[in-house]
Amino acid sequence: MKKILIILVLILGVQAFAGEIHPCMNSNDALKLLQEGNERYMNMQFQRPHINKEILDELGKGQHPFAVIISCSDSRVPLEHIFDAGLGDLFEIKNAGNLIDDHVVGSVEYALSHLGTKLVVVMGHTSCGCISTAIEHPKHQTKQVHSLIDSVKPSIELAKKQKGDFNMNITRNNAVRGARLLAKQDKIIYEYIKNHEVVVIPALYDIKTGKVEFYTKDKINSSTMSQTYFAQ
Ligand SMILES: [Zn+2]
Repeated sequence: MKKILIILVLILGVQAFAGEIHPCMNSNDALKLLQEGNERYMNMQFQRPHINKEILDELGKGQHPFAVIISCSDSRVPLEHIFDAGLGDLFEIKNAGNLIDDHVVGSVEYALSHLGTKLVVVMGHTSCGCISTAIEHPKHQTKQVHSLIDSVKPSIELAKKQKGDFNMNITRNNAVRGARLLAKQDKIIYEYIKNHEVVVIPALYDIKTGKVEFYTKDKINSSTMSQTYFAQ
């Protein structure tokens, strides 16, 4: 009897997980999961959810990540750790400086259209090498590195008019700008936001404290879809 109960609990447990990894979760619940995971990470109290053989098997049938995260390639920004997330949870798009280009936009569009994800986070981080390179703007860089630098330029120009820490302002501007560019550059993403189906949130990760600050007042949702929204 005890054996049967254990087997039953295991089966139900797997089914519960299966439900969790195919959530089509709304943006509020997805944001809450990220915040709770980050809290656990800061306290080093990991749950390491969704990491077992059954989940591997389940994910062989498909994926429904609950959040898309665009972040820097920096080795100090490991997303599954930072959000204490597991297999199939996060759709990750990484490049130096968490910049927005056609490949990034196309990847986000894919996640929203085909995987049903409702939350997109564009996350910069402190001490970003791409940002400091763009500030120093050294000559004799390759064309490819110059293209990274050029993408950060508008955020630098804006920071020149802002009070506070220059580097931090650029990093924040870059994340906010990235969130806006997604809707500006892609009609499908724009429509998802306009129809209240998707929310885009800029964020900043502090590599020393481990804390992720979500700029929810800069949240890109249907109510911010005005002309001023694209001002930066
Ligand atoms: Zn970086």
